[in-house]
Amino acid sequence: MQTIRLDLRQDGVAVATIDLSDRSMNVYTPTLQEDLGKVIEQVAADPAIKGLVLTSGKRGSFIAGGDLLDFVNVHGRDNTEQVLQRAQGWNALHRRLETCGKPVACAINGLALGGGLELALACHYRVLADDPKAVVGLPEVKVGLLPGGGGTQRLPRLIGIPAALPLLLDGNPVAPVKALQLGIVHALAPVAELVESAARWVLDNPEACQPWDVKGFKVPGGTGCLAPHAVESFQAGTSRVSQATQRNYPAPIAILSCVFEGTLVPLDTGINIEAKYFTKLLTGPVARNLMRTMFLNKGEADKLARRPQDFARRVPQKVAILGAGMMGAGIAYCAAAAGIEAMLLDTSQEQAERGKAYSVALVEKAVARGNMNEETAQALLARIHPVTDYSALAGCELVVEAVFESREVKRGVTQQAAAVLAEGALFASNTSTLPITGLAQAWPRQDLFIGIHFFSPVDRMPLVEVIRGQATSDEALARALDFVGALRKTPIVVNDSPGFFTSRVFGTFVDEGMAMLEEGIEPALIENAARMAGMPTGPLAIADEVTIELQANVQRQAKEDGLDERFQRQLSAGVVDRMMALGRIGRRGGAGFYDYPAGARKRLWPGLAEQFPPRAEQPEAEELASRILVIQALETARCVEEGVIEHPADADIGSILGIGYPSWTGGTLSYIETLGLPAFVAECDRLAALHGKRFAVSPWLRARAEAGEPFYQ
Ligand code: NAD
Repeated sequence: MQTIRLDLRQDGVAVATIDLSDRSMNVYTPTLQEDLGKVIEQVAADPAIKGLVLTSGKRGSFIAGGDLLDFVNVHGRDNTEQVLQRAQGWNALHRRLETCGKPVACAINGLALGGGLELALACHYRVLADDPKAVVGLPEVKVGLLPGGGGTQRLPRLIGIPAALPLLLDGNPVAPVKALQLGIVHALAPVAELVESAARWVLDNPEACQPWDVKGFKVPGGTGCLAPHAVESFQAGTSRVSQATQRNYPAPIAILSCVFEGTLVPLDTGINIEAKYFTKLLTGPVARNLMRTMFLNKGEADKLARRPQDFARRVPQKVAILGAGMMGAGIAYCAAAAGIEAMLLDTSQEQAERGKAYSVALVEKAVARGNMNEETAQALLARIHPVTDYSALAGCELVVEAVFESREVKRGVTQQAAAVLAEGALFASNTSTLPITGLAQAWPRQDLFIGIHFFSPVDRMPLVEVIRGQATSDEALARALDFVGALRKTPIVVNDSPGFFTSRVFGTFVDEGMAMLEEGIEPALIENAARMAGMPTGPLAIADEVTIELQANVQRQAKEDGLDERFQRQLSAGVVDRMMALGRIGRRGGAGFYDYPAGARKRLWPGLAEQFPPRAEQPEAEELASRILVIQALETARCVEEGVIEHPADADIGSILGIGYPSWTGGTLSYIETLGLPAFVAECDRLAALHGKRFAVSPWLRARAEAGEPFYQ
């Protein structure tokens, strides 16, 4: 067998050690399923074998779950029947395990997630490693699925529906002590004694049987509408889930249905119900979107998939950060946390010190919460050096520039840094709007000039947009990615263009919201429609956060630079000018589309009704939600057409992590594929007829739709 080693002990207990040779952790693959089947039949048939212990050969983990790559590839083919059969086969195996006539115990030597825990639940006895890292759980909901190996049926039958639902619906694993308390496992033991203790249980319990296979079994706490917990579990549960997901994520509702319907009937029927819901989710788009973008492609990006391979890894030991404002201060913190010396330069010592104070506040909080020890905190702070003199930058291998968003100021600091740094230093600008190719002219080696665009607040935002200018070399890209990787951030790589990728797409969201306001759509409806689509914040609220003033500056700069009309953002100019004239510049100024009363929650400014009178007939929220999702997706397609985006995964990851595009869509390009390219083009045509050319589809995209050429091959 490829995945299992089977040993027969002298006492007649067979020990099956699961160990996938080509993986660092065990995952539930079709081969493992096949091998398990062979083991069970051998144990059942051999009179010399008294029972079975299942364990894993991997240190610290039992089975980490299903194979996501395998799952993703299932989507989009006409294979519902095959998926259903596979789920049924998997369940038949678990059922055979618990009814094979011999006692089966699971020695869970480390984390057991998803299919791993489901396999354990199909054993008669579970003993778990007494190690806080040995967490157990059913996280399938996080990838848009439900536990399809009997998890929605065995867990509620074991610990009762009220205790099982949070584990199934939140997908968060629990530590061993909690698992024991809940009754998910029978005992805890030190790792070294697990197999022995499981074997002893097998010998002591020759007649072992699952509780649900005992005649007269009842689910603890009751099932169905008449159970005492039914209103809370199912009625309130459904409305909680609907509110949290806006019904954009089908998995939680499917889980509730599985548990409700499946626990009313015998286990075998319940498992069939589960298999049907599982198949629907696995062959549907949302699970594919979540798995592909948020797990597989993000995982690749974290491993620096886009890094040119011809250069040795080179993480800078010492970096210069120009500008100790909001961004510079955050970047210095992240660099110091990664063990890198950070020279934090500003125009006055006081400003530079203020930048360092940001890190002081962060580590104090972390120490107070017990997330950092005092020694680590002091070492981190000692790596941040507030300075004003450029000579202090000597020896830095990388400069990150985060001064004011002005070409002149940026040119000045770039030239001053060039005067003291060695030829081979890499220069990275954190500009959010100014094209990299132009800024690079102030640096002696344009091949070693790049954009590294962080998001605010830097210490919390996981994404970094790396921007290649026209002259940026592969070496510069490799070094920039090494730096981003060292900070443990997720990089995407894009080519130079006004607003790059994230700011450009984000701009269309904000502008669409303002266009709606000007059309006379109720502000609250605009904000709610955006949240209904799955955006974390409405366009008016987010415009206030980043400030309306910033929109005004970007629009002015675009005009001054003589940018193409489509980058001038005239759609929102009327609203922006009106708000600026009213002195309502956004949250930082204390007033914008919202009022910010001291000590109370913000609320939409009632004066908006006078400035932008609501029209008599208001559209459906779905119509507005579609505009919000489509305009951002269409702008992304334009970025692909223009070569700003070279890999679809960069757009999908960037749109979710950088601008909050809803994760159920899989990102802006996956959203197009979720609708289907022809349907997307048809929706754009419809919206263009109503709202004008910003929704117009290019001949390139139309041809792609006609040729049936998706973004992901
Ligand atoms: P900020 O105003 O908070 O900080 C800028 C800092 O640069 C100030 O401390 C200022 O004193 C300093 N500075 C100005 N001129 C200088 C000079 N000649 N030499 C040295 N220091 C100088 O601005 P911020 O929000 O930190 O933005 C900085 C850069 O990052 C801008 O290019 C901005 O577009 C970009 N950015 C901002 C955000 C954001 O959300 N704020 C996000 C991404 C990128």
